[in-house]
Amino acid sequence: MRIFTAALATETNTFSPICIDRRAFEASLYAPPGKHPETPTLCTAPIIVGRRVAAEKGWQLIEGTAAWADPAGLVNRQTYEELRDEILGQLRSALPVDAVVLGLHGAMVADGYEDTEGDLLTRVREIVGPDVLVCVELDPHSHLTAKRVAAADFFVFFKEFPHTDFVDRAEDLWRIAVDTLEGRVRPVMSVFDCRMIDVFPTSREPMRSFVDKLMRIEREDPDVLSLSVVHGFMAGDVPEMGTKMVVVTDGRPKKGQALARELGLELFERRGTFRMPEIDERQAIAAAIAAPAGPVVIADMWDNPGGGTAGDATVVLEELLANSVTDAAIGTIWDPMAVQICMAAGEGAEIPLRFGAKSAPGTGHPIDGVVRVVRLVRNAEMRFGESFAPFGDAAHIQYRGIDIILNSTRAQSFDPSLFSVMGIDPSAKKILVVKSTNHFYASYSKIASQILYCSAGTPYPNDPAKTPYRRARRDIWPITSDLHRCELLEPMRNSAGQRTTSEPSAAHNQDFLYGDDGLPK
Ligand SMILES: [Zn+2]
Repeated sequence: MRIFTAALATETNTFSPICIDRRAFEASLYAPPGKHPETPTLCTAPIIVGRRVAAEKGWQLIEGTAAWADPAGLVNRQTYEELRDEILGQLRSALPVDAVVLGLHGAMVADGYEDTEGDLLTRVREIVGPDVLVCVELDPHSHLTAKRVAAADFFVFFKEFPHTDFVDRAEDLWRIAVDTLEGRVRPVMSVFDCRMIDVFPTSREPMRSFVDKLMRIEREDPDVLSLSVVHGFMAGDVPEMGTKMVVVTDGRPKKGQALARELGLELFERRGTFRMPEIDERQAIAAAIAAPAGPVVIADMWDNPGGGTAGDATVVLEELLANSVTDAAIGTIWDPMAVQICMAAGEGAEIPLRFGAKSAPGTGHPIDGVVRVVRLVRNAEMRFGESFAPFGDAAHIQYRGIDIILNSTRAQSFDPSLFSVMGIDPSAKKILVVKSTNHFYASYSKIASQILYCSAGTPYPNDPAKTPYRRARRDIWPITSDLHRCELLEPMRNSAGQRTTSEPSAAHNQDFLYGDDGLPK
């Protein structure tokens, strides 16, 4: 067998001011064919697992380019087209192939392309023809469009949020691909549109039990090859934004549809119950000060570069300063200009510095003061599971008793090693402020005395009911809570695809967008 693999991924917050081009991919990961490191990054595990599978099977794996940029704003049009065409050119040169196994994110938006993954997959399909297996691992914070479903054979999404399972899901992807190529299974994808958008941390209930249930069904039902919840990505203002349920069966589309519907409705019934309890910066700092022991980890959850924001908000820092807190460390505040100034000043220097809150409204105010430059690290990296996440040239500064890490490559605070590589012992601090919505949880929960989810400022569109969407559909919860109106606008379709209003279900507004063959209706 000859199998082509490649990866092209980023997550686009269309509300973010941080537009990116090729340099953002080169800063995070740009690996030409064969140059991908041994450790996988979030969306490139299919390449690493593929190497092992190909070696075991004696198959030929043809590696294309792998490119990943940390989540940000709109992707430059030429950058997307160049990276896409680079991979498509490699695929053409690799022909004939038996399969194409890709790593994508699923929420990339480029200038002129609202559905980059749909565009890429359609072109892949055109190149390889209808009979070659095309399958993809994706991030659940993505948009599942009809165009993508039409172009690919099946998708596997990460199940966990935090995404601790990106390697496990790449193993699933390859296992199903191998079974397909060797003629043991025939994957058919069924998709149910939940008509909602929400946040689904799996580190807490009720999503924990739901994911456990999905894995139990996968283990126990031989017809079911894979189950995925596409959480959706509320910061991507695109027409098909929203939560979807994906069932991949072994040639059982009717059963797949029924199961997708059943599981999708279960999510819909629990809408609004999944998110973590959020407090504001005043409550968070007061609770942290009152805590008997540290480290209290405060997640500045919506200034998360992993969700595409700049990661330079100072709202929580201002609250720490207002309370004269000193036993605290902040990782990180993105400010390449300030890092450059610190680098020029050198370790040990005391300098006047303005840092933070330069990117956008709703991020607090820039901090002005005399800071001490404690430690400088070029090309700093933190751990992220089995992988490493770069955060660029970085400066550890002290300001009014608070240790602050300034970085120059935007990265969310995945792991406490972020602090230790900058010379700060994270376990010794009373308060740690991290920029992450939930990915931090997997590693910080091991050292934290307490974890507080803090919604500070407005750096991210975290309330879909209030977000000024222009392209996303309006008839999903909670953008509309008027389900009756939804029902009239979007009645059920019967199995022949004709509209009907006869279904007396409590969730009338649900709909299949895809037919028995897994293709859009
Ligand atoms: Zn994600």
